[in-house]
Amino acid sequence: MSAPAGDAWLAAHPYLARVGGVYARIEAALAEVPMPPAVVPRWEDYRTDYLEGVPVLESARAGVDLEPAGTVAIALVERLAVEPGLGVLSDALSSLARELQGLDDPPRVVAAWLLGDTVFAPMAPGLLLCLGWLSAERYLRPLRASYEGWRDEEKWLRRYCPICGSGPAMAQLSGADPGRMRRLVCGRCGCRWQFRRTQCPFCENDAQQLSVVVVEGEAGLRIDSCKACHGYLKTYDGQGDEEVLLADWTSLHLDVLAADRGLERRAASLYDFGTLLAR
Ligand SMILES: [Zn+2]
Ligand SMILES: [Zn+2]
Repeated sequence: MSAPAGDAWLAAHPYLARVGGVYARIEAALAEVPMPPAVVPRWEDYRTDYLEGVPVLESARAGVDLEPAGTVAIALVERLAVEPGLGVLSDALSSLARELQGLDDPPRVVAAWLLGDTVFAPMAPGLLLCLGWLSAERYLRPLRASYEGWRDEEKWLRRYCPICGSGPAMAQLSGADPGRMRRLVCGRCGCRWQFRRTQCPFCENDAQQLSVVVVEGEAGLRIDSCKACHGYLKTYDGQGDEEVLLADWTSLHLDVLAADRGLERRAASLYDFGTLLAR
């Protein structure tokens, strides 16, 4: 995240200090890992699959191989495993590094697992999910930028990410009527894509049944929930602070607030600390 805004946010939300500290360590380690260049597909080859709703990473026509991101993820785990000061995470990181080293063709297995292959069952799935997708997000940035320049957003009003296929982690509202737009935000690859303003991305109910909780002093963050399925999405109503406010972990306190109101988190998360250390 950009330093000044991020620091101010953490100063105003001291209970995020621990997760923020871990996140900063991961980001710093990731910056030291060699990053292979992402392969950008020829988008016209992919167009048929795009129109049929096939995400880029699941499309044979796009032909994107995520294996280099698997290599990055393994290097990240190994680097963090030998760093001091990570507390309870250190043991889990060391175990995970050993487990990955013992695999046959580790980068390929990790890449397939990140895309949903269940043949491999890591001991600490929450930890690998977090580190794996932070690695893949970094690796896929050039692809994402190219994709966002090519796509026709009106042609993908789906409830899953057009690049990686994940459900949304958050949402963003931007612009003013009549051009006001809602985008869903992928917590994995970082893509944002247009979605209907009033439709629930979980149950697809679209009977204008979204209810909104605006949280005072939270810089435009709010909780949009569905009266039909009780799922909710944290939503940033604004522009300019995406890096801080759409990172998901920076608003974990809103998830607590939503749970207190009887709402259920259906959004995909990289920061589920219940499973982060699960074995
Ligand atoms: Zn995605
Ligand atoms: Zn719903």
